[in-house]
Amino acid sequence: MRYSGMKVLWEGLTGNRGWKPVWREPEPKKSYDIVIVGGGGHGLSTAYYLAREFGLSNIAVLEKGWLGSGNIGRNTTIIRSNYLLPGNEPFYELSMKLWENLEQDFNYNAMVSQRGIINLYHSDSQRDAFARRGNAMIMAGADAVLLDRAGLEKQCPFLDFDNARFPIQGGLWQPRAGTARHDAVAWGYARGADMHGVDLIQNCEVTGFLIEDGVCKGVETSRGAILARKTAVCVAGSSGRVMSKAGMRLPIESHALQAFVSEGLKPVIPGVITFGAGHFYISQSDKGGLVFGGDIDGYNTYAQRGNLPVVEDVCEGGMAIMPMIGRARLLRMWGGVMDMSMDGSPFIDRTHIDGLYFNGGWCYGGFKATPASGFCYAHLLARDEPHPTAAEYRLDRFISGRMIDERGAGAQPNLH
Ligand SMILES: Cc1cc2nc3c(=O)[nH]c(=O)nc-3n(C[C@H](O)[C@H](O)[C@H](O)COP(=O)(O)OP(=O)(O)OC[C@H]3O[C@@H](n4cnc5c(N)ncnc54)[C@H](O)[C@@H]3O)c2cc1C
Repeated sequence: MRYSGMKVLWEGLTGNRGWKPVWREPEPKKSYDIVIVGGGGHGLSTAYYLAREFGLSNIAVLEKGWLGSGNIGRNTTIIRSNYLLPGNEPFYELSMKLWENLEQDFNYNAMVSQRGIINLYHSDSQRDAFARRGNAMIMAGADAVLLDRAGLEKQCPFLDFDNARFPIQGGLWQPRAGTARHDAVAWGYARGADMHGVDLIQNCEVTGFLIEDGVCKGVETSRGAILARKTAVCVAGSSGRVMSKAGMRLPIESHALQAFVSEGLKPVIPGVITFGAGHFYISQSDKGGLVFGGDIDGYNTYAQRGNLPVVEDVCEGGMAIMPMIGRARLLRMWGGVMDMSMDGSPFIDRTHIDGLYFNGGWCYGGFKATPASGFCYAHLLARDEPHPTAAEYRLDRFISGRMIDERGAGAQPNLH
């Protein structure tokens, strides 16, 4: 079934009786060519591109809960490619290009909205650092515009430019960045993978790996053993727990990240805005809610909820750049579990166990990476060689000293 404006019109006129379930609910088979562990954004996009780009379809995605129940449905929906380092920027720009064509590609409305992102700067040195970042983005084929105060005032007159503590001097603007409806992204990839014959198995927790003589031959699950030539793990915040079942210890810590949404308001915020002197980011949803967030919670946890000191910190960040936010009422808040790597950059790599692959360490920026992560992981799984834009995302980079320390702020998750 293809979705189109005509289809919506036809169903509206005929009592909406023609809509079908968006994916099948198959029983797991005894064996597959590739088993993907984790039905989040990255697992589903990997399955989709394996089938769509590489012609493989004897694949299962195993999800312990329901599809999209993890961070893919909990994030603040920001997509962008405003990175500095050569290990990162081409990868995120590939993702941006895939976002731009995604809805036509998988025939699903993911509400991709390129309304731009502005990173505020508050000092001369920060302006210079942003100019450098903007140049690096342009060299990688992305778009970047350095706004001075007058240029920023035109777009965002509501900002507190003369705040005594954090005066705003301007911003680095990426016009092609924006937001996408996160759960629709999961559903679109799930539907696309299912249409190519991939089995999406919900309520199927992977409880162990079948490893013999250094070779992974499949997984043990809550619904029995499933054999696979290749096993591809992408479980985001559960990375440490799941990979420990294969005897691996990862350079990753799990932390909670919270998100907040206000009551619906008239359109006020043009795109995404981030605070340059603290950690706060905000956009406005199509329903009118102000969607915002800030730092991770300071302690390690696997709980999908956070604590009140971070709520206070996030709200202070909001008040510092746009005091009018103090008059909006908070509608909802929630949390997700982040797989924080020690240099703030991800992994897409083979492990030392033959047949076992790992994708993780996305920190709190993995939503925008969903298309490129799936594409590059699929490339690795299908061809057994890394995609050129993801070649630096190696598991051994802390041994070889090739960290991709994007912010250069230090080896602590809360600095990324
Ligand atoms: C509050 C918040 C705000 C964020 N904001 C942004 C943002 O604005 N922009 C951005 O780019 N990123 C953002 N992120 C980060 C982004 O959401 C994540 O990096 C990304 O979604 C992680 O990849 P995923 O979608 O595959 O993860 P998930 O959706 O968490 O998928 C992992 C899946 O694995 C499953 N799983 C775990 N263990 C097992 C097992 N043993 N067996 C089977 N299945 C298992 C889980 O149930 C889960 O469904 C945010 C995250 C949060 C929580």
